[in-house]
This record gives sequence, C-alpha cells and structure tokens, in this order.
Amino acid sequence: MTKQTKRTQQTPQNGSVAHLSVLVSGASVAGPALALGLARLGARVTVVEKAPGLRGGGFAVDFRGHVHRTVLTAMGIWDEIHAHQTHMGRQTVVDADGSPRVDLPAEMMSGDVEIFRGDLARIMYERTRDDVEYVFGDSIASLAQDADGVDVTFEQGAPRRFDLVVGADGLHSNTRRLVFGDESRYLRFLDHYVAGFDVPNHLGLDRTGRVYSEPGRAVVVGNYDGDPDRAGALLVFRSGELSYDRRDVPGIKRILLDRFAGMGWEVPAVLKALEETDALYFDAIAQIHVDRLVEGRVVLLGDAGYGATMGGMGTGVAIVGAYVLAGELALADGDFRTAFAEYETRIRDFAKGCQKISGNAGPFFAPPTERRIRSRDRMYRILASRPLARFFKRLTEKAATDIRLREYPC
Ligand SMILES: Cc1cc2nc3c(=O)[nH]c(=O)nc-3n(C[C@H](O)[C@H](O)[C@H](O)COP(=O)(O)OP(=O)(O)OC[C@H]3O[C@@H](n4cnc5c(N)ncnc54)[C@H](O)[C@@H]3O)c2cc1C
Repeated sequence: MTKQTKRTQQTPQNGSVAHLSVLVSGASVAGPALALGLARLGARVTVVEKAPGLRGGGFAVDFRGHVHRTVLTAMGIWDEIHAHQTHMGRQTVVDADGSPRVDLPAEMMSGDVEIFRGDLARIMYERTRDDVEYVFGDSIASLAQDADGVDVTFEQGAPRRFDLVVGADGLHSNTRRLVFGDESRYLRFLDHYVAGFDVPNHLGLDRTGRVYSEPGRAVVVGNYDGDPDRAGALLVFRSGELSYDRRDVPGIKRILLDRFAGMGWEVPAVLKALEETDALYFDAIAQIHVDRLVEGRVVLLGDAGYGATMGGMGTGVAIVGAYVLAGELALADGDFRTAFAEYETRIRDFAKGCQKISGNAGPFFAPPTERRIRSRDRMYRILASRPLARFFKRLTEKAATDIRLREYPC
C-alpha cells in the first residue's frame, strides 16, 4: 500500500463543507474530479485506489459542447487539457486490401477536444495531491453506516470513520456491490466485448485511424499522439455473455485469438501484438442502470452509477457529475441529504440521455452482417458530408449539453 499525503491548509472559497471528511473509492476520472472540487471547498478528502499507482494510458476520451467546457473551465483544467490533447485526425473505414471506404471526420469521432484518459487523470491528480490524501494499492472491505458517519474497513489499511463515502470505482464498482447489491442487478450487457492494447505503428499512421469490419467483429488501429512507433488497437466483437476469469490474461488472449482468427486486412499483425502485450484491457460493452444513486451517506458517481461504455461520453458525464455533487454539497452547506437528493435529480436524466447514444457502439463497429456493414458505410458517407457533419455534431452535442447547471462556488 502506498500512501501519499501532503495536506496543506485549505481556505474554503464559499459554501461550508470544511467540516466533512469524505472517502472516495477510485482514482481515475470521477474520483479525482470530485476530489478537486471538494478540496477547493476545504473538505478533508481521502481517495483509495486499488491499483498500486495512478493508472496511465488507456483509450482516448473526448469532450464536446458548452456544458463540458463550462465545467472544465470552472475546474481550472480546460487549458491544460488542450495542452495535452491528442490532435487526432480522421478515421477511415477500409476494405480488406486497405482501400478506403469512408472517412469519419475528427469532429465526429473525437469531439471538441480529445485526451488520453491517463493524461486526464494525471492532470487532476497533480492538481489535488497536496490537498487530498491518496491511498494506492488498497480497497474498501466493508462499510457500516449509522446516524453520524460511516465505519470503513480496508483490505490493507486500518479501519477508519468518514462522514461520507463516494463510489467512483467504475463499471464493476466495489462500493456499489457492498452497499447497493450484486453487479448482476445493474449491469446491462450490450452483446459485444471490447479489447484494447498497444501495437507497433507498422501502418505508419500519423494521428489517423483505420477501422476494418467483418460481420460481428472489427479491428480499429489508431495513432493518437503522433508517436511514430506506437499505435493503439481496439478489438470489438459480437457475442453472447462469456464466462471467464478477469485475472486470467492468457485465457482472455485465447478467447480473442479464437474470435479474430482468419480475419483479413492487417489483423494477423495486430493479433501478433496481442500475443506479446502485457497490458491488455478487456471488458464487456455494458452499461450501468441503478434505481438510485444514494444510500444514506454513500453515493455513486461516474461509471459506478451510470456507466455508458464507449461512445456514451462517460468521461464528460463523470466530470459533470463530480462538479454537480461538489457544488450541491457547497450550496447545501454540507447537508448531505439535501445535496445528494439534488445531485441525483440533476444528473439522472442527463446520464440516461448519454447512455442512449452509446447503445450503438458495438453494432457501429461490428455490424452483424455484410449487408449491415455496407449500409453503415453508406449512411456515414452521407453523414460525413460537410453540412450533415455539422448536423451530426449537433446531434451528439444535444445529449452532452442536456443539463442546466446551477452557479456553484467550486
Ligand atoms: C473502449 C472504451 C472507449 C471509451 N471511449 C470513450 C470516449 O471516447 N469518450 C468518453 O467520454 N468515454 C469513453 N469511454 C468511457 C470512459 O472511459 C468512462 O466513462 C470513464 O473512464 C469513467 O470514469 P470513472 O472514473 O467513473 O471510472 P473508471 O475510469 O472505470 O475508473 C474507476 C477507477 O476505480 C478503480 N477501482 C476499481 N475497483 C476498485 C476498488 N475495489 N477499490 C478502489 N478502486 C477501485 C479502478 O482501478 C479505476 O482507477 C470509453 C470506455 C471504453 C471501455
């Protein structure tokens, strides 16, 4: 367990949350974003993360529309996000021989600004590390709440007591399981799986991507950061629910090698890189639908409460959620019952709207038949034309901006 604490004296700006001690589970996007808001308001925040350190890398995530911009500006990280943006260009759907079928413009695929999830996490972590206690390599083991607080035991560290606990620990949230019940009640499987890993940039891509689909499976290779040697690969395939051990990496690799065997284009080279990688991401394409985000002093934030998977602007929703949660606590002077109820009301419909869009991510990449692949390409050829590209952009922005923000002192 690694503990990093460099607490400095906080000066609350407005709204009195300085009396609150808050435990946040998860240090990816939602957790550090909330820590940033609460620390600026003077709360005592501890973030516990099960990974041994801040997780780097990951796929590129994007922000779009005025709500994301307003929140990131208020959080003071808009400029830094731009300084680390990917500058990803267009992605091209290709045939088996590599010839282009349709170009997907950057504004369609990468929003207004795109950044690696790991870079975003690092920006927020660095902004908060002096004022927030980060505990890496540990996880909540049990939670017991009473009228005045929450007793928490940890897998590694000594038991502690907090005023509030926030589950920002992702799609497979530990906090949600402990307080709200088994994941099977909340996880909606969307008939596809996705894998991600780095590959050599043997296609010589320069901030562009290629998408190759066969019925029920797709391989995307993209060079997001201009690194001449490295690219990222995403493998998407249609499937019934699989039973596998999440820690059994060789077993997961076998599943993928089996599903993508015999595929054309550059896929054999991608599968060779898969065999060699030691940093493989693999998960179901799935969403989280809970009936409530709050249980007493415990609240869910980000993917833990309303995960939308790829294409659902989950990062933007997590950031807006964190901003609203911190802001409502400030407006309610730390009265968590009022604040949690307001947060839940304000974020629920917004998150649902974004989830609706992401339901199509699997079929978009891996249409089930050759005919559907061709009609997808036809449709996107039309959508990518200039006037319609603007319309498409407005359509995706509609969900990303469908929330009225209050004035918050954070
Ligand atoms: C392939 C793919 C592509 C995506 N593309 C986009 C995109 O283009 N745009 C977009 O906006 N979103 C995208 N998303 C979604 C986006 O990644 C998530 O919505 C976002 O990361 C949510 O952040 P989070 O902090 O809520 O959860 P996560 O990022 O999942 O972080 C959860 C954190 O909790 C930690 N944790 C887990 N269990 C425990 C435990 N027991 N104790 C302590 N810590 C724990 C994890 O290690 C992790 O650090 C994509 C997702 C996928 C899978």
